[in-house]
Amino acid sequence: MIRMPLPWLVFTALFIFLAGILFTWICYEIARRRGEAGKLRTWTRCPVCAFQYKVNPSLRVLRCPQCGGLNEHRRIKTL
Ligand SMILES: [Zn+2]
Repeated sequence: MIRMPLPWLVFTALFIFLAGILFTWICYEIARRRGEAGKLRTWTRCPVCAFQYKVNPSLRVLRCPQCGGLNEHRRIKTL
C-alpha cells in the first residue's frame, strides 16, 4: 500500500483530474479542426460575385450557380 500525506493525495487527485480535462480538450479541438478542414474542402467562393457554394472537389472548373461564371476550385481560407 502506498502511504502519502493527505495534501499530496488531494494534489495528486486534482492533477490527474485536470490532466484528463486537458487531454479531452486537446483531442476535441483536433477533431473539430479536422472536421472544419474537411468541410471547407467541398466549399468554394466565386471570385466574381463572392457567392459560396458546395462543389465536387474532383472537378477543376466549376460554374457558379449565382452568376454563371466559370471558376477554378479554390478552398475558402480562414484566418
Ligand atoms: Zn458567381
